Amino acid sequence: LNPTNAHFTPEENDVEKKLRPLSFDDFTGQDQVLENLQIFVKAANLRNEALDHTLFHGPPGLGKTTLANILAAELNVGIKITSGPVLDKPGDLAGLLTNLEERDVLFIDEIHRLSPVVEEYLYSAMEDFKIDIMIESGPNARSVQIHLNPFTLVGATTRSGLLTAPMRARFGIQSRLQYYNTELLSTIVERSSSILGVPITLESAIEIAGRSRGTPRIANALLRRVRDFAQIKGNGKIDIEIARFALNALHVDKYGLDEMDNKILSTIIDKFKGGPVGLSTLATAVSENAETIEEVYEPFLIQEGFIFRTPRGREVTEKAYKHLDRQKPNVQGG
Ligand code: ADP
Repeated sequence: LNPTNAHFTPEENDVEKKLRPLSFDDFTGQDQVLENLQIFVKAANLRNEALDHTLFHGPPGLGKTTLANILAAELNVGIKITSGPVLDKPGDLAGLLTNLEERDVLFIDEIHRLSPVVEEYLYSAMEDFKIDIMIESGPNARSVQIHLNPFTLVGATTRSGLLTAPMRARFGIQSRLQYYNTELLSTIVERSSSILGVPITLESAIEIAGRSRGTPRIANALLRRVRDFAQIKGNGKIDIEIARFALNALHVDKYGLDEMDNKILSTIIDKFKGGPVGLSTLATAVSENAETIEEVYEPFLIQEGFIFRTPRGREVTEKAYKHLDRQKPNVQGG
């Protein structure tokens, strides 16, 4: 149940699509972000203009892709979807850009991973809706300027700090998505259960929500696994007994921390005396890459008060010792 969607099977990705909210009304939480977006979309629709370029940042699974799709739907325009690592040549980008119709949305996921040449190429497209393309080759090769239809670039990134300053400056609208609280997540779980046609009690929805690491994608993934248990071990309905049984069998603890979260905490305690430990040292010790720890695991562990950052590195808190049932060592000699 990794928060990134890396190990979903294609069938699960289909289910995930089915669970995706399609309009502002369908979307739960992120109230401030949504209120603003609704105003900007209304204004753009009224003036019949393209919406300003929009950047969403926040950890994986919080709804960035979902919101990009909702924006296109509410603007009543088409959407083309791509991602930073996929767009490796300016030519690929030119192809996408010249095929956009007026006011369309171009969604670029992981926009911080664009190559510098592609990124630079994007600048004039975003600013003036113009690009230069090379035609012919050899001695006749020359570049011609092409006018694009006004469009909206929607970018998503796990951290806006990873974006270059000139790139960031070109987004008129920037929204940061927050982790969801248990109440919001339980609403999402109930909505998803009804789409999947699985009866669920409120108590069970809250139980699943509370263990979902503040993340709708994880809530939906847990719900699907709990549904499997309900169908095979129970009577198909999700009640609190089957929910607890399933969640324990899945090794999701009561804070919703997953295996990697717990490994990070226990490693800091056992190998580094509770910290401080530097990010790259920690990454090597838990065999995960530093970027993933910083963007995916750490924000939630910090928000929930299990670790904190100091200038010398990461340290665990009392709560982490308690959670893992470890004794905090006595500090010798002050
Ligand atoms: P991101 O792009 O930030 O990684 P996604 O937009 O792909 O996240 O969201 C992951 C899944 O979580 C979606 O399939 C969707 O079903 C669900 N989801 C995300 N946000 C919400 C929300 N606010 N309400 C209901 N479901 C949501």
